[in-house]
Amino acid sequence: MASTQERRAELTAVYRQARTCTRCPELAGTRTQVVFGAGNADADLMFVGEAPGAREDAQGVPFVGAAGKLLGELLGAVGLTREDVFICNVLKCRPPGNRDPLPAEIENCQAYLLRQVELIAPRVICTLGNFSTKLLRGEPTGISRLHGQAEIRVIGERAVRLYPLFHPAAALYTRSLLETLRADFARLPGLLELAPPEQPERTEPVSVVPEAAVALPEAAVALPEAAVALPEAELPTLPQPDPEAEPEPRPAAPDERQLGLF
Ligand code: URA
Repeated sequence: MASTQERRAELTAVYRQARTCTRCPELAGTRTQVVFGAGNADADLMFVGEAPGAREDAQGVPFVGAAGKLLGELLGAVGLTREDVFICNVLKCRPPGNRDPLPAEIENCQAYLLRQVELIAPRVICTLGNFSTKLLRGEPTGISRLHGQAEIRVIGERAVRLYPLFHPAAALYTRSLLETLRADFARLPGLLELAPPEQPERTEPVSVVPEAAVALPEAAVALPEAAVALPEAELPTLPQPDPEAEPEPRPAAPDERQLGLF
């Protein structure tokens, strides 16, 4: 495993690449900025929501609106802060009018998420709501059936404990969901105390030098009891920077330190 510093440097490279991404022309044309993720780049615990909303789009930071406030409270109740964890979304750009992410957008964006998982290497990933749960499990089963049940899954090449939770935005308006979300959150410290999941064998060492910032793991490898989230043929690739291209003007984006990462 590369050093924390090396992994941060590479995450920075992926962030710089993401913030000029135009893979989804509609999102690239309507976003204020890319919302890459925020928090501790060395976190044991990662949260994956759906997509930035209006406030996130304006500030460049995930979960800063009402749902984010609730997420912060839930973290506080188990003795954690946002600085202890890493928070990101399935989509890094706001869908206009807060519509649902489209399948093509999810596919276009998933290489960034897989790279984040690979570089941050969390032990536990909480998926918040249906979109991230379905994506990272690679199955259509919904959150109502899965919430609060941890399982070991291989995401890209990393074995993690995947822990699906209701999306805090859903819990804002439905009291029973809020109670369920609180109860599920209360089990997080216990999950974090478990020994890290055994990692699948790698076929070759993973380089973290800048070139590798655009490379994805070659194959999803299954642990005996784990389902593979993304079969090899479906693994996405990050867009390759065009060496001939004119240097792009830097878009308005939060300072890298504001992401709490770098
Ligand atoms: N909802 C999400 O899924 N993500 C955010 O960043 C904010 C609200």
